[in-house]
Amino acid sequence: MNAGIRTGIGFDFHRLVAGRSLVLGGVPIPYEKGLLGHSDADVLVHAICDALLGAGGLDDIGIHFPDSDPAYQGISSLELLRRTCTLIAADGFRIVNVDAVVLAEAPQIMPFRREISSRILQAMQIAAPQAFNLKATTTEGCGMIGRGEGIGAMATALIERRRADRHGGA
Ligand SMILES: [Zn+2]
Repeated sequence: MNAGIRTGIGFDFHRLVAGRSLVLGGVPIPYEKGLLGHSDADVLVHAICDALLGAGGLDDIGIHFPDSDPAYQGISSLELLRRTCTLIAADGFRIVNVDAVVLAEAPQIMPFRREISSRILQAMQIAAPQAFNLKATTTEGCGMIGRGEGIGAMATALIERRRADRHGGA
């Protein structure tokens, strides 16, 4: 495939349990529960990684960073995002923008929006604040998210071939 511009979508969900810290977008968020997972279970960053990998045609996060590998136990998911961006860049692409939404009944995410955005932009090594947009919504008390059993996240990503590479054939 030689398309100079590509999009990808990512979705993730983790269960909320007692005795774990809640980390979203690399930011610790005070709450009575945290997300269960092999890494820090940062559901937002996982959705972003999958959107970027999808845009790159590079499979998914479970293939690159398997939860069966002890190397990823407790790892900051921002590190997984950094490695994902390295894969995208190695293929000659740059990130145009990422849009994301967190689906959670509680806690409130928006007070942490700026800090989350800044950490994600930093991990993606992007200076333009418009390149990352974060939203949050509830499911109005319905379903597993509404009952507070877990938190979900969705993301889309747009990437484009870097200009210098366009003249390089391939
Ligand atoms: Zn995940």
